[in-house]
This record gives sequence, C-alpha cells and structure tokens, in this order.
Amino acid sequence: MEQLKSVDTKTVKDVQPPMQEDIFVTRPELPPLADFVKSLETLWDSRLLTNNGSFHQAFETELAEYLGVKYVSLFANGTLALLTALQVLRINGEVITTPYTFAATTHALHWNQITPVFCDIDPWTLNLDPNRIESLITPRTTAILPVHIYGIPCDVAKIEDIADVYGLKVIYDACHAFGVKVKNESILTAGDLSVLSFHATKIFTTMEGGAIVTNDLKVKKRIDYLKNFGFSNEVHVIAPGINGKMNEMQAALGLLQLKYIDGYIASRRQKAMYYREHLRGLRGLRLMEDFPDVTHNYPYFPVFISQDEFGASRDAVYHALRDRNIYSRRYFYPLTSAFPMYRNSPSAAPENLPIANVISSQVLCLPLFPDLHEIQLDRIIRTIKDTAK
Ligand SMILES: *Cc1c(COP(=O)(O)O)cnc(C)c1O
Repeated sequence: MEQLKSVDTKTVKDVQPPMQEDIFVTRPELPPLADFVKSLETLWDSRLLTNNGSFHQAFETELAEYLGVKYVSLFANGTLALLTALQVLRINGEVITTPYTFAATTHALHWNQITPVFCDIDPWTLNLDPNRIESLITPRTTAILPVHIYGIPCDVAKIEDIADVYGLKVIYDACHAFGVKVKNESILTAGDLSVLSFHATKIFTTMEGGAIVTNDLKVKKRIDYLKNFGFSNEVHVIAPGINGKMNEMQAALGLLQLKYIDGYIASRRQKAMYYREHLRGLRGLRLMEDFPDVTHNYPYFPVFISQDEFGASRDAVYHALRDRNIYSRRYFYPLTSAFPMYRNSPSAAPENLPIANVISSQVLCLPLFPDLHEIQLDRIIRTIKDTAK
C-alpha cells in the first residue's frame, strides 16, 4: 500500500509538480555556492579553521554593525550561547521565564542548576506577561529570562522597571528576533544580554550557530574567555569555561548571508502579507498582525484555531495539511512547563498558566520561507479553508 502510494505520488509529480510536492515549515536560504567556495579556498589556504580566525573576526564586526548593537560574541549554536549568558552573569537560584518557547530556553536554566519559575504569557504578544512577574519574585530570584517569541518584542521597558526595583538581571532569548527593531532601534540592546541562534531553521543561518549581544566590552571579554574553556591567554585559565566557539566555516557563511538577509526578510514579509490577506476574517482562526513601531522579521506564520468556532481542531487542521504533504508545526506545543522534568514544579501547574495553555493548544505555524511559491501558498490556504466548518 505504502509502495503503491509513493509510486502514485511520483507519477503525479511528473505531470503537475507543485500540487504534490512536500512543503515543509521552512526551507533555509543560502548564498550562491560559488561565493562560499571562494571563502572555502581562502580557508583551505590559511589552515586557520577555528579559534577566532579572520572570518570570525570579520563576521563579529559586520554582524554588530548590521544589527546596530555594540558587541557580539559568536557561538557554535544558540544553546551554548544561552548556557554561557547565564554563566557570565553568575545567575543562580530561581529565574522567571516563559513556558511558551523552544525547549532550549528552559533547559539552559536546568543545565545551570537554576530553577525555572514559569510566568504566564500576554494573550496579544504571547510573550511573558510583565504584570505577572512581581508575584513570582522570591528571595531566591536572580534574573528574568523572557523570549521575544516569533520575533515580537517583549515589553522591555516594563521588564526593566521591575528588574531595577528588585535588582534582577535580564537575559533575552532573542533567537527569533534577528534584525527586529522598535522605533528603529535594535531590540537586542535591551536587558543585560540577548542571545541569538543561527540554526538552519532560523531566518539567518550559519547551519548551526549563535551569538550573545552585549553593550558592555568587559562582559564581552568575559564571554569570550568562557566560550574558550576560560583561557585568557596560553597559560591562564580564569574561569571554568566551555567550548562554545563558532568555527571559520560557519563564520564565512555568516558573512555571505549578511549580504542577502534583507532580501530574505522582504520576501518573507510578502508571503506573510499574502497569508493575512487570504486568511483574515476566517471564523475561528486568529492571525497575528504587525505591531506599531516594530520592524518585524517574519520568522514564523502562527495561526490560532478555536475549535468551536472554526469547526475543526488545531490537530485536525495539522493532519489535513499533512495528508496533502504540507508540514506545518505546532510551535510551541507542548509548553516546556509540561515536560516531565519541569511539570512537577509549583509554577508549572496549568492553572497558573491559563493563557499559555490555551495558546499552545491552538497554535499552528504555517510554512513560511522566501521562495515559497504563490501556488504553494494557495494550496495551503485552500486546505485550511476546506477544513473549516
Ligand atoms: C532555536 C532556539 C534556541 C536554540 O538555538 P540553537 O541554535 O538551536 O541551539 C533557543 N531558543 C529559542 C526560542 C529558539 O527558537
């Protein structure tokens, strides 16, 4: 049966390619291969493959310039950057964070022996609700770890006010917020540190990769020691560091990606507008619109399905799409607070996180990437409409 089905698909594929093609939630953009090969030739000649080589140095400088931030420290991936961000500020005890995120946010706390204290989210931004932070602060609280989910900026002013009153540090998981600005200022300068990811599924990718953004040169220096085992020179180890370094091949790719990222984002925006135009007003399906004063980066296209009004559950839509080779994702379901290693902590109780639980049960991220064709968009939109009551 399976055999037959795949043969069928292949035959149809030959006749009308776009109708049966797999559509994944994302498809990474890459620069022209010839340009990357040129970089590789330089790399082969130099034999300097890692340890702050010339690609690494150039990428750090150009990335900081592009983002409009002071200092960037590159990492092998976003998770190592998160782990190191918590280390460099010596965060311990309890940290207030959002359960509506990718696993790495919460795991980074756990790996630092920090207790995550889950805070419910705001129903409109889907970010940690600043009005609920104060009631979660205890004598053990040392920091707040919010996430700019889907690149939507947190209420950074309100979070800073609370952090200042209680003497807390703020580290933003900005893995979705590459290039996001508020009133033309980078969101990445908010708080003490911001962490980026350049994983293959992110809008700006170096295959794997990440960074910490800071406004403080002293802190950047310490981060750079920590990501290199704590070495401050050949013989001095000043802290128990880790190997978090980005290699030269990743940095070379990053340098090339910087030339194209504006085009990638512009193209993503176009697709997002197309979805909105065709899905807006559909009963039981909520969209997210642009926020005032924000320069968005369109990393995901989440929709929220209320079963009663829409006439089908979120999971029914997910499966209907799958049946037509369209692979949407339930980002972020389940909540990290529901993971077995966190769910027994008091703050993880669903009754403390009512909004996050509802949103998580309704969310579906539709395919969004720069070269998604209109014919594919139409196929996705039609399937969703067909599933509605
Ligand atoms: C991708 C992601 C991470 C982890 O980044 P990696 O580079 O994959 O290690 C952390 N937090 C969020 C919100 C992410 O989306």
